[in-house]
Amino acid sequence: MAQQLYLEESGLQQFETTVERRLDSRVALEATAFYPTGGGQPHDTGTIEVGDDQWDVVDVEKKDTIYHRLDPIGEADTAPPEGATVRATLNWDRRRAHMRYHTAQHLLSALLLNEYAASTTGNQLYDDHAHLDCEYDRFDEADLEAIETGMNELITADRAVEWYTLDRERAEAELDTDRTRIDLLPDSIRQLRIVEIAGADGDEAPFDRTACAGTHVSSTGAIGEVIVTGRETKGSEEERIEFIFTDHRWMRDVTQEREFTAQRRAGEIARPSRHVCPWGARWRPTSHPDVSLTQMPSPASTTQCLPLRTTGLQKTRWLSSIRIDYPGFPRDPHEPIRSHIWISTR
Ligand SMILES: [Zn+2]
Repeated sequence: MAQQLYLEESGLQQFETTVERRLDSRVALEATAFYPTGGGQPHDTGTIEVGDDQWDVVDVEKKDTIYHRLDPIGEADTAPPEGATVRATLNWDRRRAHMRYHTAQHLLSALLLNEYAASTTGNQLYDDHAHLDCEYDRFDEADLEAIETGMNELITADRAVEWYTLDRERAEAELDTDRTRIDLLPDSIRQLRIVEIAGADGDEAPFDRTACAGTHVSSTGAIGEVIVTGRETKGSEEERIEFIFTDHRWMRDVTQEREFTAQRRAGEIARPSRHVCPWGARWRPTSHPDVSLTQMPSPASTTQCLPLRTTGLQKTRWLSSIRIDYPGFPRDPHEPIRSHIWISTR
Protein backbone atom coordinates (compact mmCIF):
# COMPACT_ATOMS: atom_id res chain seq x y z
CA MET A 1 0.00 0.00 0.00
CA ALA A 2 1.22 3.46 -0.90
CA GLN A 3 2.02 5.80 1.96
CA GLN A 4 -1.18 7.83 2.42
CA LEU A 5 0.12 11.33 2.95
CA TYR A 6 -3.40 12.81 3.12
CA LEU A 7 -4.05 10.92 6.37
CA GLU A 8 -1.24 12.73 8.16
CA GLU A 9 -1.14 16.15 6.56
CA SER A 10 -4.46 17.23 5.06
CA GLY A 11 -2.94 20.57 3.96
CA LEU A 12 -0.36 19.01 1.63
CA GLN A 13 -0.89 20.48 -1.84
CA GLN A 14 2.31 19.38 -3.60
CA PHE A 15 4.62 16.41 -3.16
CA GLU A 16 7.35 14.42 -4.89
CA THR A 17 7.38 10.66 -5.15
CA THR A 18 8.29 7.69 -7.39
CA VAL A 19 6.12 5.66 -9.77
CA GLU A 20 5.89 2.19 -8.26
CA ARG A 21 3.76 0.51 -10.91
CA ARG A 22 2.20 1.41 -14.23
CA LEU A 23 -0.92 -0.25 -15.65
CA ASP A 24 -2.14 1.27 -18.92
CA SER A 25 -3.19 4.80 -18.06
CA ARG A 26 -2.98 4.21 -14.33
CA VAL A 27 -0.04 4.56 -11.94
CA ALA A 28 0.54 3.50 -8.36
CA LEU A 29 2.86 5.86 -6.49
CA GLU A 30 5.10 5.10 -3.52
CA ALA A 31 3.41 7.87 -1.57
CA THR A 32 0.38 9.98 -2.42
CA ALA A 33 -1.57 12.98 -1.16
CA PHE A 34 -4.38 12.28 -3.69
CA TYR A 35 -7.43 11.13 -1.73
CA PRO A 36 -9.14 8.09 -3.31
CA THR A 37 -12.97 7.97 -3.50
CA GLY A 38 -14.38 6.60 -0.25
CA GLY A 39 -16.42 7.35 2.85
CA GLY A 40 -18.73 9.71 0.96
CA GLN A 41 -15.80 11.89 -0.12
CA PRO A 42 -14.96 12.10 -3.85
CA HIS A 43 -11.42 11.58 -5.11
CA ASP A 44 -8.95 14.38 -5.61
CA THR A 45 -7.84 15.64 -8.99
CA GLY A 46 -4.69 17.51 -10.02
CA THR A 47 -1.59 17.08 -12.17
CA ILE A 48 1.65 15.14 -12.12
CA GLU A 49 4.83 16.10 -13.95
CA VAL A 50 8.01 14.35 -15.01
CA GLY A 51 10.41 16.85 -16.58
CA ASP A 52 8.40 18.65 -19.28
CA ASP A 53 5.71 15.96 -19.48
CA GLN A 54 2.41 16.52 -17.70
CA TRP A 55 -0.67 14.49 -16.93
CA ASP A 56 -4.04 15.32 -15.43
CA VAL A 57 -5.03 13.06 -12.54
CA VAL A 58 -8.66 12.32 -13.42
CA ASP A 59 -9.57 9.53 -11.00
CA VAL A 60 -8.11 8.05 -7.82
CA GLU A 61 -9.17 4.66 -6.51
CA LYS A 62 -8.09 2.54 -3.56
CA LYS A 63 -7.81 -1.21 -4.04
CA ASP A 64 -4.70 -3.20 -3.04
CA THR A 65 -2.96 0.16 -3.35
CA ILE A 66 -3.95 3.59 -4.65
CA TYR A 67 -4.33 3.94 -8.41
CA HIS A 68 -4.23 7.28 -10.19
CA ARG A 69 -5.88 7.37 -13.61
CA LEU A 70 -4.04 9.79 -15.87
CA ASP A 71 -4.92 11.80 -18.94
CA PRO A 72 -1.81 12.98 -20.84
CA ILE A 73 -1.46 16.70 -21.58
CA GLY A 74 -0.01 17.57 -25.00
CA GLU A 75 2.67 15.18 -26.25
CA ALA A 76 3.08 13.18 -23.03
CA ASP A 77 3.02 9.37 -23.18
CA THR A 78 -0.01 7.44 -21.76
CA ALA A 79 1.61 7.43 -18.30
CA PRO A 80 5.10 7.95 -16.81
CA PRO A 81 7.35 4.85 -16.57
CA GLU A 82 7.98 2.83 -13.42
CA GLY A 83 10.77 4.33 -11.32
CA ALA A 84 10.21 7.89 -12.58
CA THR A 85 10.30 10.69 -10.04
CA VAL A 86 7.08 12.69 -10.30
CA ARG A 87 6.04 16.05 -8.94
CA ALA A 88 2.37 16.13 -8.08
CA THR A 89 0.02 19.07 -7.47
CA LEU A 90 -3.52 18.77 -6.13
CA ASN A 91 -6.50 20.75 -7.40
CA TRP A 92 -6.72 22.60 -4.11
CA ASP A 93 -10.07 24.35 -4.60
CA ARG A 94 -11.75 20.99 -4.98
CA ARG A 95 -9.92 19.30 -2.09
CA ARG A 96 -10.42 22.24 0.25
CA ALA A 97 -14.14 22.24 -0.47
CA HIS A 98 -14.23 18.49 0.30
CA MET A 99 -12.41 19.11 3.61
CA ARG A 100 -14.86 21.81 4.60
CA TYR A 101 -17.95 19.72 3.73
CA HIS A 102 -16.50 16.65 5.41
CA THR A 103 -15.81 18.51 8.66
CA ALA A 104 -19.27 20.10 8.52
CA GLN A 105 -20.73 16.60 8.15
CA HIS A 106 -19.05 15.52 11.42
CA LEU A 107 -20.60 18.53 13.17
CA LEU A 108 -24.00 17.70 11.70
CA SER A 109 -23.77 14.00 12.65
CA ALA A 110 -22.86 14.85 16.24
CA LEU A 111 -25.54 17.53 16.48
CA LEU A 112 -28.24 15.18 15.16
CA LEU A 113 -27.22 12.51 17.64
CA ASN A 114 -27.12 14.94 20.58
CA GLU A 115 -30.32 16.82 19.84
CA TYR A 116 -32.53 14.31 17.99
CA ALA A 117 -30.97 10.91 18.86
CA ALA A 118 -30.68 10.50 15.08
CA SER A 119 -27.80 8.26 13.98
CA THR A 120 -26.12 8.97 10.67
CA THR A 121 -26.64 6.19 8.14
CA GLY A 122 -24.87 7.70 5.16
CA ASN A 123 -23.36 10.83 3.72
CA GLN A 124 -22.21 12.16 0.39
CA LEU A 125 -20.30 15.33 -0.19
CA TYR A 126 -19.30 17.18 -3.35
CA ASP A 127 -17.22 20.28 -3.94
CA ASP A 128 -20.29 22.54 -3.87
CA HIS A 129 -22.93 20.85 -1.68
CA ALA A 130 -23.52 17.81 0.54
CA HIS A 131 -26.20 15.63 2.07
CA LEU A 132 -26.49 13.34 5.04
CA ASP A 133 -28.94 10.52 5.79
CA CYS A 134 -30.00 9.66 9.33
CA GLU A 135 -32.49 7.59 11.28
CA TYR A 136 -35.34 9.97 12.03
CA ASP A 137 -39.04 10.14 11.38
CA ARG A 138 -39.45 13.63 9.96
CA PHE A 139 -37.75 17.00 10.44
CA ASP A 140 -39.96 20.07 10.28
CA GLU A 141 -39.06 23.64 9.31
CA ALA A 142 -38.23 24.60 12.89
CA ASP A 143 -35.90 21.59 13.20
CA LEU A 144 -34.05 22.56 10.03
CA GLU A 145 -33.61 26.12 11.28
CA ALA A 146 -32.37 24.88 14.66
CA ILE A 147 -29.95 22.49 12.96
CA GLU A 148 -28.59 25.27 10.75
CA THR A 149 -28.19 27.60 13.75
CA GLY A 150 -26.52 24.85 15.78
CA MET A 151 -24.03 24.08 13.03
CA ASN A 152 -23.17 27.76 12.53
CA GLU A 153 -22.65 28.23 16.28
CA LEU A 154 -20.15 25.37 16.31
CA ILE A 155 -18.44 26.85 13.27
CA THR A 156 -18.22 30.33 14.79
CA ALA A 157 -16.82 28.83 18.02
CA ASP A 158 -13.79 27.77 15.92
CA ARG A 159 -13.24 24.45 17.71
CA ALA A 160 -9.96 22.64 17.02
CA VAL A 161 -10.12 19.50 14.83
CA GLU A 162 -7.45 16.82 15.32
CA TRP A 163 -6.79 13.33 14.01
CA TYR A 164 -4.71 10.42 15.28
CA THR A 165 -4.56 6.63 15.07
CA LEU A 166 -5.76 4.35 17.81
CA ASP A 167 -5.62 0.60 18.37
CA ARG A 168 -9.01 -0.98 17.67
CA GLU A 169 -9.10 -2.82 21.05
CA ARG A 170 -8.35 0.39 22.87
CA ALA A 171 -10.88 2.33 20.83
CA GLU A 172 -13.59 -0.26 21.49
CA ALA A 173 -12.84 -0.24 25.20
CA GLU A 174 -12.55 3.52 25.65
CA LEU A 175 -14.84 5.14 23.10
CA ASP A 176 -18.58 5.14 22.59
CA THR A 177 -18.73 2.73 19.62
CA ASP A 178 -22.14 4.05 18.52
CA ARG A 179 -20.92 7.59 18.27
CA THR A 180 -17.63 6.75 16.65
CA ARG A 181 -19.35 4.26 14.31
CA ILE A 182 -16.50 1.76 14.80
CA ASP A 183 -18.92 -1.15 14.42
CA LEU A 184 -19.44 -0.16 10.77
CA LEU A 185 -15.78 -0.85 9.97
CA PRO A 186 -14.65 -4.29 8.76
CA ASP A 187 -12.89 -6.45 11.39
CA SER A 188 -9.72 -6.46 9.29
CA ILE A 189 -9.10 -2.83 10.23
CA ARG A 190 -7.07 -2.96 13.45
CA GLN A 191 -5.71 0.59 13.51
CA LEU A 192 -8.38 3.25 13.55
CA ARG A 193 -8.02 6.83 12.53
CA ILE A 194 -9.95 9.02 14.90
CA VAL A 195 -11.08 12.54 14.03
CA GLU A 196 -11.78 14.62 17.11
CA ILE A 197 -13.55 17.97 17.40
CA ALA A 198 -12.74 19.81 20.63
CA GLY A 199 -15.41 20.50 23.25
CA ALA A 200 -16.28 23.96 24.53
CA ASP A 201 -13.76 25.74 26.77
CA GLY A 202 -13.69 23.99 30.12
CA ASP A 203 -15.21 20.75 28.75
CA GLU A 204 -13.15 17.67 29.44
CA ALA A 205 -14.65 15.52 26.74
CA PRO A 206 -14.35 16.39 23.05
CA PHE A 207 -17.53 17.48 21.23
CA ASP A 208 -17.17 14.62 18.77
CA ARG A 209 -14.92 11.66 18.09
CA THR A 210 -15.46 9.67 14.89
CA ALA A 211 -13.50 6.92 13.17
CA CYS A 212 -12.89 8.40 9.71
CA ALA A 213 -10.21 8.21 7.01
CA GLY A 214 -11.31 11.35 5.18
CA THR A 215 -9.66 14.76 5.05
CA HIS A 216 -10.77 17.62 7.29
CA VAL A 217 -9.93 21.23 8.07
CA SER A 218 -8.02 21.80 11.31
CA SER A 219 -10.58 24.05 13.00
CA THR A 220 -14.33 24.43 12.58
CA GLY A 221 -13.93 28.15 11.78
CA ALA A 222 -12.36 27.15 8.46
CA ILE A 223 -15.65 25.53 7.40
CA GLY A 224 -17.49 28.81 6.83
CA GLU A 225 -21.20 29.57 7.11
CA VAL A 226 -23.59 26.71 6.37
CA ILE A 227 -27.11 26.87 4.93
CA VAL A 228 -29.40 23.88 5.45
CA THR A 229 -31.21 23.92 2.12
CA GLY A 230 -33.75 21.19 2.68
CA ARG A 231 -34.82 17.70 3.68
CA GLU A 232 -36.14 14.65 1.91
CA THR A 233 -37.69 11.37 3.04
CA LYS A 234 -35.46 8.41 2.32
CA GLY A 235 -37.94 5.76 3.44
CA SER A 236 -39.61 5.03 6.75
CA GLU A 237 -37.64 6.47 9.64
CA GLU A 238 -34.94 7.84 7.39
CA GLU A 239 -34.36 11.46 6.53
CA ARG A 240 -31.92 13.24 4.26
CA ILE A 241 -30.61 16.69 5.12
CA GLU A 242 -29.07 18.84 2.39
CA PHE A 243 -26.61 21.63 3.06
CA ILE A 244 -24.39 24.07 1.24
CA PHE A 245 -21.92 26.82 2.17
CA THR A 246 -22.98 30.42 1.70
CA ASP A 247 -20.04 31.03 -0.64
CA HIS A 248 -21.05 28.08 -2.84
CA ARG A 249 -24.66 29.03 -3.39
CA TRP A 250 -23.80 31.64 -5.96
CA MET A 251 -21.49 29.17 -7.75
CA ARG A 252 -24.14 26.49 -7.73
CA ASP A 253 -26.78 28.89 -8.99
CA VAL A 254 -24.61 29.58 -12.00
CA THR A 255 -24.17 25.85 -12.64
CA GLN A 256 -27.90 25.24 -12.33
CA GLU A 257 -28.54 28.18 -14.58
CA ARG A 258 -26.30 26.66 -17.26
CA GLU A 259 -28.18 23.37 -17.00
CA PHE A 260 -31.45 25.24 -17.17
CA THR A 261 -30.33 27.15 -20.26
CA ALA A 262 -29.25 23.93 -21.94
CA GLN A 263 -32.61 22.33 -21.17
CA ARG A 264 -34.42 25.35 -22.50
CA ARG A 265 -32.41 25.32 -25.70
CA ALA A 266 -33.24 21.66 -26.08
CA GLY A 267 -36.92 22.64 -25.89
CA GLU A 268 -37.48 20.84 -22.61
CA ILE A 269 -38.55 23.99 -20.80
CA ALA A 270 -40.66 26.74 -22.31
CA ARG A 271 -39.35 30.24 -21.86
CA PRO A 272 -41.55 32.27 -19.51
CA SER A 273 -42.46 35.60 -21.03
CA ARG A 274 -43.53 37.54 -17.96
CA HIS A 275 -41.28 40.38 -16.89
CA VAL A 276 -40.99 41.03 -13.19
CA CYS A 277 -39.60 43.60 -10.89
CA PRO A 278 -37.93 41.59 -8.14
CA TRP A 279 -37.63 44.70 -5.96
CA GLY A 280 -41.37 44.96 -5.88
CA ALA A 281 -41.58 41.69 -4.03
CA ARG A 282 -40.92 41.38 -0.33
CA TRP A 283 -37.52 40.08 0.51
CA ARG A 284 -35.29 40.08 3.55
CA PRO A 285 -31.64 40.41 2.68
CA THR A 286 -30.31 40.75 6.20
CA SER A 287 -32.04 37.73 7.68
CA HIS A 288 -30.38 35.40 5.20
CA PRO A 289 -26.97 36.70 4.12
CA ASP A 290 -26.38 35.92 0.51
CA VAL A 291 -23.59 37.32 -1.55
CA SER A 292 -25.57 37.44 -4.77
CA LEU A 293 -28.28 39.40 -3.06
CA THR A 294 -26.34 41.80 -0.86
CA GLN A 295 -24.03 42.78 -3.69
CA MET A 296 -26.91 43.48 -6.01
CA PRO A 297 -27.25 47.25 -6.43
CA SER A 298 -30.71 48.64 -5.90
CA PRO A 299 -32.18 50.24 -9.00
CA ALA A 300 -33.21 53.89 -8.79
CA SER A 301 -36.63 53.16 -10.19
CA THR A 302 -38.74 50.25 -11.24
CA THR A 303 -38.17 51.06 -14.91
CA GLN A 304 -34.65 49.78 -14.44
CA CYS A 305 -36.14 46.43 -13.65
CA LEU A 306 -37.75 46.07 -17.03
CA PRO A 307 -34.77 44.59 -18.86
CA LEU A 308 -34.77 41.83 -16.27
CA ARG A 309 -36.40 38.78 -17.71
CA THR A 310 -37.54 35.84 -15.65
CA THR A 311 -36.20 32.64 -17.04
CA GLY A 312 -37.13 30.32 -14.24
CA LEU A 313 -38.27 29.93 -10.72
CA GLN A 314 -36.72 27.81 -8.05
CA LYS A 315 -38.03 27.21 -4.56
CA THR A 316 -35.91 26.15 -1.63
CA ARG A 317 -36.77 25.79 2.02
CA TRP A 318 -37.66 29.39 2.59
CA LEU A 319 -36.37 31.30 -0.34
CA SER A 320 -37.41 31.41 -3.93
CA SER A 321 -34.94 32.38 -6.55
CA ILE A 322 -36.07 34.08 -9.67
CA ARG A 323 -33.62 33.62 -12.50
CA ILE A 324 -33.16 36.83 -14.40
CA ASP A 325 -31.10 38.38 -17.16
CA TYR A 326 -29.23 41.14 -15.43
CA PRO A 327 -26.83 43.38 -17.31
CA GLY A 328 -23.34 43.66 -15.94
CA PHE A 329 -23.46 41.83 -12.63
CA PRO A 330 -21.06 41.00 -11.16
CA ARG A 331 -18.21 41.14 -13.66
CA ASP A 332 -17.92 42.91 -17.00
CA PRO A 333 -20.61 45.61 -17.31
CA HIS A 334 -20.64 45.09 -21.09
CA GLU A 335 -21.34 41.41 -20.84
CA PRO A 336 -24.89 40.69 -19.68
CA ILE A 337 -25.06 37.60 -17.56
CA ARG A 338 -27.84 35.71 -15.92
CA SER A 339 -28.24 36.16 -12.20
CA HIS A 340 -30.56 35.39 -9.33
CA ILE A 341 -32.63 37.35 -6.90
CA TRP A 342 -33.61 35.51 -3.76
CA ILE A 343 -37.04 36.38 -2.46
CA SER A 344 -38.42 35.32 0.87
CA THR A 345 -41.54 33.21 0.47
CA ARG A 346 -42.71 34.04 3.96
ZN1 LIG B 1 -14.59 12.44 8.29
